[in-house]
Amino acid sequence: KCLSCLRSNLLTILTLIGVVLGSALGIILRSSRDGPWTQREVNYIQFVGDLFLRILKGLVLPLIVSTLIAAIGSLDLSVSGKMARVGGIYYVITTTTAIVLGIVLAVTVKPGANRNEKEGSGPEISVRNVTTVDTLLDLVRNMFPPNYVQACTQQYQTVVTPPSDYDEPDIYKWKMSYEFVDSMNIIGCVVAAVAFGIAISSLKEQAIHVQKFINDFSVIIMKITSWVIWLSPIGVLFLICAKLIEIDDLAVLVGKLGLYFVTVLGGILFHGFVILPLILFVAIRQNPIRLIKNMGQAIATAFGTSSSSATLPVTIRCMEEFHGIDTRVTRFLLPIGATINMDGTALYEATAAIFISQLRGLTLSFGQIIAVAITATAASIGAAGIPQAGLVTMVMVLDAIGLPAEDVSLIIAVDWLLDRFRTVVNIMGDAYGTAIVAHYARDELARTRKESLNEFQKA
Ligand code: ASP
Repeated sequence: KCLSCLRSNLLTILTLIGVVLGSALGIILRSSRDGPWTQREVNYIQFVGDLFLRILKGLVLPLIVSTLIAAIGSLDLSVSGKMARVGGIYYVITTTTAIVLGIVLAVTVKPGANRNEKEGSGPEISVRNVTTVDTLLDLVRNMFPPNYVQACTQQYQTVVTPPSDYDEPDIYKWKMSYEFVDSMNIIGCVVAAVAFGIAISSLKEQAIHVQKFINDFSVIIMKITSWVIWLSPIGVLFLICAKLIEIDDLAVLVGKLGLYFVTVLGGILFHGFVILPLILFVAIRQNPIRLIKNMGQAIATAFGTSSSSATLPVTIRCMEEFHGIDTRVTRFLLPIGATINMDGTALYEATAAIFISQLRGLTLSFGQIIAVAITATAASIGAAGIPQAGLVTMVMVLDAIGLPAEDVSLIIAVDWLLDRFRTVVNIMGDAYGTAIVAHYARDELARTRKESLNEFQKA
């Protein structure tokens, strides 16, 4: 036991060393040269990190689908209902808290005040002329993909194209079409897996073979995950190192966007490491430090990959093996949480939108702030667990207060780094949630385990 405890801690320590070493190496390599590094050189350095990311991403779909179906299928419907209720309440409370905190910070610190920003800085992003409603409808459409093979690789997106004589905007001439973008439609797969699991659970004996098959399948995927996790120290090291070499201007962090950066970062960290731990303590009297420690490796992986989906295999393992949460809870809640519960992203959406409006010299009315809160919630639910997805869904929040989509270019320079921190808080929010749900559903879980054991013995 002691040996295995050492082994699991060893991996966490190694992963954290990977983060530190990667950052140091990146800064040293960067300053070892006057000019910039070529893209080819960066790609070579990134190669190992990229492999790690590819392997993790490859695991995401089989993992989400099999663990969700297996978890829900093995549960009594009343138990999964209870878990969904407690989890849902937790998601609502924590997302709302994050957004309120984000708004309060932006309004009191005023990171964008007294600076009138006329020109956008940073690279252009494509303007899609879509409205909040379009984006929300896309989200709902993506929940129900007509073709599940396609859903494994592509998502659906509305595109609005103005006519070529754009100077004379005549909205009747605008074309609306739909395109598929290359990105897994995780939310569609989650919805399908939940439905499949509920069907298995309500069919009981009739579906027992399928359930057994999917159970075994998910065990196999978790086994592969446990091997892949050993790549995280080295993968994270190269990902961070390459990123630090690649980015244009490190000075921009402390310069122009400094106060904005510090405000969002402070808010995110305060939410993830003070407010959420407090909620955990008040709700179930559990020591949050132990949970944070047990999640160490997932935290480092989230920071290295900027993707809660890619980190999901690691999060599941940390919560099950190190924190000892019932697998029926982790496999039910974590895949859903990684897709829709993003506290870090929610807080960031709210703060960033208000920051941009301050840069533009706009004073938001109370109604507009409420609009920010509502669309920031939707934007955090709609953001996929992939790098900088929040920056894309930000367009919806900006649209709600009448700002153009191009304005995200005002914050793009520091987004790569903020993204890493918000991903960490996103996965931490899911982790605290599973601990709370496991606590509240403990009686039901114990009862159903006993029942299934009895059935097993009878058989
Ligand atoms: N990268 C974040 C995540 O995967 C999403 C975001 O861009 O906010 O959790």
